[in-house]
Amino acid sequence: MSADKKQQLKAIRGMNDILPPDTELWQNVETICQQVLSGRGYQEIRLPIVEQTQLFLRSIGADTDIVSKEMYTFDDRNGDSLTLRPEGTASCARAGIEHGMFYNQQQRLWYCGPMFRHERPQKGRYRQFHQLGAEAYGWTTPDIEAELIAVVHDMFERLGLRGTRLQINSLGDQQTRTQFRDALQNYLRPRKDKLDEDSQRRLESNPLRILDSKNADTQEILNGAPVLSDFLSEESSQHFALLQEFLVQLGIEFEINTKLVRGLDYYNDTVFEWINDGFGAQSTVCAGGRYDSLVEQIGGAATPGFGFAMGLERLVQILQEQNAAIAERSSKIDVYLISTGDAARGQALNMQSKLAKIGLNAVLHCGQSSLKNQFKRADKQGARVALIVGEEESAAKTVGIKILDRSAAPQSQQTVKQNDVVNAVTNCLESL
Ligand code: ATP
Ligand code: MG
Repeated sequence: MSADKKQQLKAIRGMNDILPPDTELWQNVETICQQVLSGRGYQEIRLPIVEQTQLFLRSIGADTDIVSKEMYTFDDRNGDSLTLRPEGTASCARAGIEHGMFYNQQQRLWYCGPMFRHERPQKGRYRQFHQLGAEAYGWTTPDIEAELIAVVHDMFERLGLRGTRLQINSLGDQQTRTQFRDALQNYLRPRKDKLDEDSQRRLESNPLRILDSKNADTQEILNGAPVLSDFLSEESSQHFALLQEFLVQLGIEFEINTKLVRGLDYYNDTVFEWINDGFGAQSTVCAGGRYDSLVEQIGGAATPGFGFAMGLERLVQILQEQNAAIAERSSKIDVYLISTGDAARGQALNMQSKLAKIGLNAVLHCGQSSLKNQFKRADKQGARVALIVGEEESAAKTVGIKILDRSAAPQSQQTVKQNDVVNAVTNCLESL
């Protein structure tokens, strides 16, 4: 055997396996988010992971970090340039155009899945990561913006996520941004030497991005720079003010961050981010904004859009660090079924089906082992209740119930009829 063959195969750097029990937490997070979305009339759209490279060049913008240095681009066997999607909005808009979904229609859509960016892997930053995103097409008004912000707010509340702040800003319309861009460049050009390296590079290509530089010296210089909000048109100002009014009415707290700009070119007017402090540099869990020119830019009829994307790795990690209720609950086994002998095993299988049908986590001990070992396994897996069918119980069609949950007061085992198992277990779990 060659040395090659013996070498251990590993996942690609920055692309993670997600293992149990974490997968269960992921499922719970996804389910809750999806319930919130469908509760407000958003429908799922499933999109390919690979697209023509051209799609991202035309939508995200050539001067952005994503396009200039983060995309996984390759030629396929026909020599076509393809790219693993770095985000979902471009694909969503492309699909909407392709299937005539925007023509005289409004759409509330969501998607969820892996995205790919060749970044330096670190906590909260990976090369394959997952986004759950929602997009609303066909509305220009701030009510839809408040609705989508409320969607995220609801998700966080139902997930039990704490300490997440909402920041909003308005980038204004195209004309505003051109004027502001000029003013910012005029202010920064004479100060170029004092800017960090990235910002120097962006000064001509994408000066707005300098605003969210993390460099302290650059931020110091920016303190004296022109402020975007001074350039907003009357219409943009009113739009932004109305959004704020809606948020106040919804009881959703927010801060205005006049330096908040997004890393993609297609945004206008409202942009927002949800930030979770205490998670280091990768503190943004969810980000989004308005993109009224995107659909037209990639070849569709002008259609306004507004949406967000949430980073699920960051969300899940924060929930775990916060020990949120949902993180603790996940992987909890409600019932562990213990039995001896084939007749008893058949009965246990039967009870497992009944318990699973009412939504309980019921795990059956399969394979030969002593009662003692089966109890040990139940305990080790953190089951709350054990059901026991020994030879005696099997003959009498009864089942023993024992509480294993350590936080409960110790109780002796009780015996009930197998036919009553659903009621007995439900009552028992409720008492815990
Ligand atoms: P950042 O400033 O952190 O690089 P971004 O502006 O590139 O973020 P978006 O393109 O707006 O991020 O993506 C939305 C969300 O997706 C981010 O707020 C984050 O939660 C998540 N995200 C983006 N890139 C990554 C990544 N490489 N790994 C994990 N999550 C990511
Ligand atoms: Mg980024």
